[in-house]
Amino acid sequence: MPSNLPFWKTKDIQRLRGLGQKRIFLLNSKQDDPTGDYVLYWMQMTQRTTFNFALQFAIEQANRYKVPLVVYHALDEDYPYASDRTYTFILEGVKELYQRFKKLGINYGFYLVRGKKQPALDTFLKKAICLVSDDYPSFVTPLENTTVTQRCLMSHYVVDSCTTVPMRFFDKQKWSAATIRSKIHKVLAEALEDVTNPVLLNKKPFVYPEYFLPPDFDVAKEVSRSSIDHTVRPSAFKGGETAAQEKLTYFIAHNLDTYEVTKDDPTLQRTSHLSPYLHFGMISPIAIARQILQHKKLSVDRLFKSLISPDAIHIYFDQLIVRRDLAYNFCHFNKKHATYQGMPVWSRKTLQEHKQDKRLYLYTKEQLERAQTHDPYWNAAQLEMVYTGSMHGFMRMYWCKQLLTWTKRPQDAFKIAVYLNDKYSLDGRDPNGYAGIAWALGGLHDRPWFTKPIFGKVRLMNMSGLVRKYNMQRYLAAVEKIMPDTSSRKP
Ligand SMILES: Cc1cc2nc3c(=O)[nH]c(=O)nc-3n(C[C@H](O)[C@H](O)[C@H](O)COP(=O)(O)OP(=O)(O)OC[C@H]3O[C@@H](n4cnc5c(N)ncnc54)[C@H](O)[C@@H]3O)c2cc1C
Repeated sequence: MPSNLPFWKTKDIQRLRGLGQKRIFLLNSKQDDPTGDYVLYWMQMTQRTTFNFALQFAIEQANRYKVPLVVYHALDEDYPYASDRTYTFILEGVKELYQRFKKLGINYGFYLVRGKKQPALDTFLKKAICLVSDDYPSFVTPLENTTVTQRCLMSHYVVDSCTTVPMRFFDKQKWSAATIRSKIHKVLAEALEDVTNPVLLNKKPFVYPEYFLPPDFDVAKEVSRSSIDHTVRPSAFKGGETAAQEKLTYFIAHNLDTYEVTKDDPTLQRTSHLSPYLHFGMISPIAIARQILQHKKLSVDRLFKSLISPDAIHIYFDQLIVRRDLAYNFCHFNKKHATYQGMPVWSRKTLQEHKQDKRLYLYTKEQLERAQTHDPYWNAAQLEMVYTGSMHGFMRMYWCKQLLTWTKRPQDAFKIAVYLNDKYSLDGRDPNGYAGIAWALGGLHDRPWFTKPIFGKVRLMNMSGLVRKYNMQRYLAAVEKIMPDTSSRKP
């Protein structure tokens, strides 16, 4: 029988050295209950079976107690911005999860909460040795975890599978990419080590309640039956681990080598398009980085030591690892990250000083949502997001910054940016989104620039710069092509 010591005081989980132990955090002060029947893994934001540290830890715990593992996954139509777009993407992934878990001999059940809620998770908790769930710093997950942990009579571990270098490796909020980059580079070789799931020893089947979805459910039917926003239509992105891998394979074969010169050009769309998969945890940034290194026959050491000039891989890794981990660091340490108050003090001060500056145009939230501004490029970017579920990264910066000049107060600009991004972007509701908006409107992870009207010391981006840099007529034509019905452009 395993000891009742907290897991980090035992020697049987070898991986819990170095970075590994920073991934796993005991959220309450309870102990494992060895009289339980199984280990419970509540899958939230890591919707995959590979490079999933929570799953790995849950299997180790189950093997330690020689019990089965029960995976619980749910989707509630109450969650903000639930729409056909997010539901279709998630449910396509769920269908694949049923198959993948079956192959692994691990119990997996998905509860699509509709109408009267069943106390499913609480029922499962009654017989659990411990609860393992995903550590994720924004949107609904932190509150879900802290609420459930209060009802938990046994240990509740949250496990960080979302970052490359775990959020808890850092002791505080970092102020720029420059202050986090060298710390990440120092441990990157360890962070990118291979992760294989241990084999689950006890494969006893678990019977899920009849209101859980059967593995052969019909995605479109379940989406149409749900009380969610049906006006936000499904996107062309297909959900699931396989689709994520296909996107990565295509990117490596066709677009990785030119990434440093093509990434900012909105007329080319040659970035990896992996952000929706990263957001829902259908692919791990570690798996992406490992595959790129393998493809290029490079090690982390060679990447950083022998290649001196910046190239596509350095720049891609800087986005995928440094910028992304920095955004997660921001949301982990700054609980106000989804609000205007989360922006740096200096930028709020400068924006306040320029609050009275004359705005040439003012638009309501509805006008903005319908892409009814005087700026054809902004409108095109908005429509790209509304109809495809994504907006090119360079246009995101431009799109967001213009909101400062078209709203009465910078606080309004922030709220509208979060609303539109979270509602329409498949990758919205993500730490990258909150950090991106705080960067664009409030100079987060940036520095003060020369003072300009309305923006104050926040970095400015305007239409003339956009047109000077890129063939924006080409961008307009490309967006025109993706419009489902050009006679009616209302979302
Ligand atoms: C106003 C604004 C809003 C944004 N909203 C979101 C959002 O809701 N969700 C989201 O994932 N990203 C957001 N970003 C960051 C960035 O624009 C997207 O991650 C990127 O455009 C996604 O496309 P891709 O996967 O093809 O990226 P690639 O260029 O292929 O990059 C690979 C990965 O690196 C990460 N990455 C790239 N750029 C950044 C960045 N600037 N900051 C942090 N990580 C980055 C992403 O995870 C991305 O998938 C936002 C940026 C801004 C300025």
